[in-house]
Parts: sequence; structure tokens; C-alpha cells
Amino acid sequence: MTLRELPAVSRLLAHPRTERLLVRFNREYVVQGCRDILDELRRAISQGHAIDAAALEEDAILTRLEARLHGADAAGLRRVVNATGTVLHTNLGRALLPQAAVDAVVQAATQPVNLEYDLAQGERGRREQAIEDLLMALTGAEAATVVNNNAAAVLLVLNTLASGREVIVSRGELIEIGGAFRIPEIMARSGAILKEVGTTNRTHPGDYENAITERTALLLKVHTSNYRIVGFVAEVGLPDLVAMGRKHGIPVVEDLGSGALVDLSRYGLPKEPVVAERVALGPDLVTFSGDKVLGGPQAGLIVGKADRLRIIAANPLHRAVRCDKLTIAALEATLRLYRESASIAQDIPVLNAITRPLAEIEDTAQRALPALRSALGPGFRVSVQDSTSQMGSGALPTEEIPTKVIAIEHDFLGAHRIAARFRQARPPIIGRVKDDWFLLDARLIADPLDLVPNWADELEGPEAPRS
Ligand SMILES: *Cc1c(COP(=O)(O)O)cnc(C)c1O
Repeated sequence: MTLRELPAVSRLLAHPRTERLLVRFNREYVVQGCRDILDELRRAISQGHAIDAAALEEDAILTRLEARLHGADAAGLRRVVNATGTVLHTNLGRALLPQAAVDAVVQAATQPVNLEYDLAQGERGRREQAIEDLLMALTGAEAATVVNNNAAAVLLVLNTLASGREVIVSRGELIEIGGAFRIPEIMARSGAILKEVGTTNRTHPGDYENAITERTALLLKVHTSNYRIVGFVAEVGLPDLVAMGRKHGIPVVEDLGSGALVDLSRYGLPKEPVVAERVALGPDLVTFSGDKVLGGPQAGLIVGKADRLRIIAANPLHRAVRCDKLTIAALEATLRLYRESASIAQDIPVLNAITRPLAEIEDTAQRALPALRSALGPGFRVSVQDSTSQMGSGALPTEEIPTKVIAIEHDFLGAHRIAARFRQARPPIIGRVKDDWFLLDARLIADPLDLVPNWADELEGPEAPRS
């Protein structure tokens, strides 16, 4: 087969099948699709790959063109199956929204809403108002506000209260979250000057006291979300910091990271700090995320003293990191559930996932087995086993929640190869590798068939997932 036998782009474009495509897609996009497919075929031929003659015929090329233009495969952001068992997987989008939040997003996206419009007065209102009211009710704080994410909340707080002055933080709390959020770097960008005290494992009240000078703007406490130091450790608790701040007239701020609105120990889980309990200890401000344990959209929440929040709201940076209307809609709906719902563990998917009964998880895994076995074919060993899920996103970092997984092993394919094949399925299935096993955690799976890979069509080349 030779290059000369490939049809020209102009001939493909003149074909009635292409004309039908041009009703729906713009011409440039269709032309580019033709060129790409012809280029791929030329490359394959010139590299000496064995190519079926039929694949070079006009009809085959047009079929490929149609599949490509219509195919969802081109989408960068697409649905995946989260079989990792990590409830708040940052790489997979963290919290899934409650249905009420989804409905609110759809409404705000498709209809005009009173985002910044006061219906009683018929004049301009504040977009954050409803959320602030709910946060005050749910946390007992005097005042509240919301921004884009918790990183922005910390940046805004530091910039407003401490720019050009010193912020005292324990060395044991100079954390990095997910590679891109590091307390020292956020601090530098805010204009505040980091003053580290104590050591990695032990910090005492005297360390803070000795560091306080007239340059001190703030005492900052950071919840070490994603790790725990155990052994010979000492930290200064929030009550002591609050007392010290009062004595010296210096504000105290806590970055809680996850920050739960309800006590997880009521579901038999270990306790994550509860925002209302932290607020009651009297710090000036507490910050936390909207899409971690709270289970809402990406957002950064700031609650605390009214005088501090007034100056924060007046900082132009607040405008630069404000939330869009879709976030506002989703967050308000989620917070409303916390305030109003009779069964938040049912209504909020994150809480639902961590409280799911083990028997139900096992049932999902068992029901997936027959179809999974036949989809995989010979050479694979598949069984249901005990394992542990994780909360993720820095919540309950050392805590393992009992779960059931489908463990998959193959005669000669390694676990990482199996994982790669599952990622090629439609939709891609993301599991985890432990020792020599590829594991599919059933905790976050509603429909057992989601665990059965679909390796339909169009996959080519050496990664084709058929054995
Ligand atoms: C996760 C986390 C952040 C960052 O929050 P985002 O909402 O992801 O921006 C900041 N501080 C702590 C302690 C965290 O755990």
C-alpha cells in the first residue's frame, strides 16, 4: 500500500457524508479532522506499520472522521469511574455535589438570578449575603465570607491583616498541600513576613511569647491536614494562642483545611475539627474549604469576628478572588442542607460515601464480579477482598475506613499494566495498585456495572486492551 492511494482532502470534503458533517460542524474543524487522519495514516505507512488496505479507502476514512468529530473522546474533561476508594480525590474533582446543589447550579446557569440584587429594595445587593447568613448560623460566628478556595482565603486574610508585618507560625505547621499550596509561599505572596517558631515536632507557648514584638501582626495556626507527627510532640493549642493574642492585642487565625460542619465521630469516624467548636474557642478568624469534608463546590470560607471581616471585605483582593454565581448557587444549596435536612448523611454525597454500610459495599462488589470476569477473559483472577478506603484531601490522613475491593491479578500482566488498561476503558476506570494487585474499591460505586470496563472501538496500536 502506498501513500499515493490515499484520497485527497478535497475529495473527502466533496463527499455527501462529509456534507452532512458540515451541517453540524464548522468547515475548519472538519478540514482539520481530514488532515489529521490522513497524516496519521501517512505516518503509519512510512514507519512501515502493517495497515489493512481497507483502512485507506475513502469509506473507512470517512467513518473514522465521523467517529472522531462526534466522539466524546476528544473532550479533555470527561467522566471517570472513581474506584480508588478515596472519597475526596483532588485529582478526580474532590466532592460530588448534592442533588440540590446540582439543581441550583443548573438554575443559575440557565436563568437570571438575584445574584447581586436586593429584591426588597429593588437595588444592588451583595452576592455573598445568603451564604454569610448560613455560615453564621452553622458555625456560631459573628460574621463570614466566601472566596474562590481556601488558598485564596488564607492569602486574603494574611494580606489584609499582616501585609508588611510578621506572622508567627509553628515550624511543625509549615505545611505543603497537594504540591502547589505551601504556607511559606502563600505568606510571601501575601506580603506578610513569616516568623517561624519552635521545632518540627515541638512548639511551646514560650516560643510564641519570645517571638512577639511590635512588628507582630498575627498568630497563625495551621491544621496539619495531610500528615501527623507522632511520638515526642508538643503543640500549642488554640485556647492558649487565643489567650496570648488577647494579652498582646494580636489577632489569631486558624487555617482548618477541611473543617467539618458536623462531628464525624457521630458516624463512628475519628473526629475532624468541627468549625463551630473552633469558632467557640475565640480566634479572630477560621478558614476552611468548601469542597473537602463539607461536600460542596470549590470555595474558601472565612468565619469569625465582624470587625476583621469588615476590613477583609473591603480589600480589593476580595473582589479578585470572589466566587462566580455557579459556586454561590451550589454552596448555598449545600449549606442549606446542613441547616435544614433531616438526614444529611443521605443528602450529602461525601457524608453518604463515608457512612456507607460495609454490607452494601460488598454487595456492589459481588454483583460486579460475573460481568467483570467475562469482560476480562482468561488469565485474570478476580475476587472480593477486605481493604481500606481513605477520606483524602488531607482529612483524616492516617485513618483507614474498612471497605471491600475487587482484587484483580493476571498470570503475567503486572498490576500497573492492568491499571493502565482500565484507564483506557470508556469511561476510564481509576483503581489503585497495592502490592501485586490491582484493586477496585466499591465504596464510591453506585452501579456495579461501572466497575466493568468497556473497551469499545477506535483504540489502536500497541496499547489496545485486548489480550
Ligand atoms: C486543603 C488545604 C488548603 C487549601 O485549600 P483549597 O480549598 O484546596 O485551596 C489550605 N490549608 C489547609 C490546611 C488545607 O488542608
